Amino acid sequence: MNASVANAFPPLSITQPLLAWYDGHARPLPWRNTRDAYAIWVSEIMLQQTRVEAVKPYYARFMTALPNITALAQCEENTLLKLWEGLGYYSRVRNMQRAAHILLAEYNGAFPQDVDALLRLPGIGAYTAGAIASIAFGIPVPAVDGNVLRVLSRLCCSTLDIMQPSTRRAAADMLMRMIPQNNAGAFNQALMELGACVCLPNAAPLCASCPVAHVCQGYAQGAPSLLPVKSKKAPRRIELHTVFVFTRQKAVAVRKRRDTGLLRGMWELPNIPGHLNKESMAQQLDAWRIQPVGVVACYSAKHIFTHIEWHMLVYAMEVGLPSAGLPPDGLPPAGLPPAGLPEGWEWSREGDMHALPTAFRVCLV
Ligand code: SF4
Repeated sequence: MNASVANAFPPLSITQPLLAWYDGHARPLPWRNTRDAYAIWVSEIMLQQTRVEAVKPYYARFMTALPNITALAQCEENTLLKLWEGLGYYSRVRNMQRAAHILLAEYNGAFPQDVDALLRLPGIGAYTAGAIASIAFGIPVPAVDGNVLRVLSRLCCSTLDIMQPSTRRAAADMLMRMIPQNNAGAFNQALMELGACVCLPNAAPLCASCPVAHVCQGYAQGAPSLLPVKSKKAPRRIELHTVFVFTRQKAVAVRKRRDTGLLRGMWELPNIPGHLNKESMAQQLDAWRIQPVGVVACYSAKHIFTHIEWHMLVYAMEVGLPSAGLPPDGLPPAGLPPAGLPEGWEWSREGDMHALPTAFRVCLV
């Protein structure tokens, strides 16, 4: 690391005022006031890319269903994905289950109290390892995420690009020199809380209420909201898809995605690449040997992933099925191929264990 990067984050006297403020202002979140590494891990993984308020019900449901590492390791895949349904980024929960298997096999079902060992677990990076190690075990290591980088950039009036790994390393080095040896978990959480509640993203920071305003260089220089400096990401790739919503008796036809790529192994609504006009759509229905009953609705929907946008043209229709041999609700018995639908497709009723990603749920209007 060159000298200018290393000098961008000089140590500051914020520890005591920050801890005192946190003591009186910490929000009573469900994953606070615990040193259970499993609970901290679940909350930290869920909080990646998802707001605190949105995470709360998911966290409560997940912890009730899978309260420990053993329960997570033994959970059947459909149930696991269903518990994660709506949070997105399903690779996160798959990685958690892989990590749970390793913890059972190699660590007697407990988390190792060692940052390097935590970092070797699937899905655990420097931030999550720092959060678990400091909050659960009191190990004095930092937990640097975008939130913390914003606070530090403003505190130090640093114009370094926070998207650069070297900036993150410099910030972590600074915190290593400041972190209290006997209160690392509270210190890290206090910085996160300051970023979430006072030194706000996408809004003017509430400097008048800030416990560390007296040392803040950004505040002193009068323009903290211009920081941090963050280089723009590459524009997202746009993909066009045609999605089919086939319904019958309030059930919707779903099928499994391939075991590779985006949303691998998840349930999906039938879809094909590109936007089909009505004529091509009718040909596709013929190819699947599906007959619509009544009006075919057509509308658009959109879903944004980190690097990709799906622009979807949706055709929604009630479909007819051969009635011979079907039970009174008009649907084939669970587990049997549905008559009139292609091999491998299933009917999903509300409450079934088909975890349908949000990217497809937005098509169900
Ligand atoms: Fe952020 Fe303002 Fe506090 Fe500085 S004084 S850390 S800019 S809230």
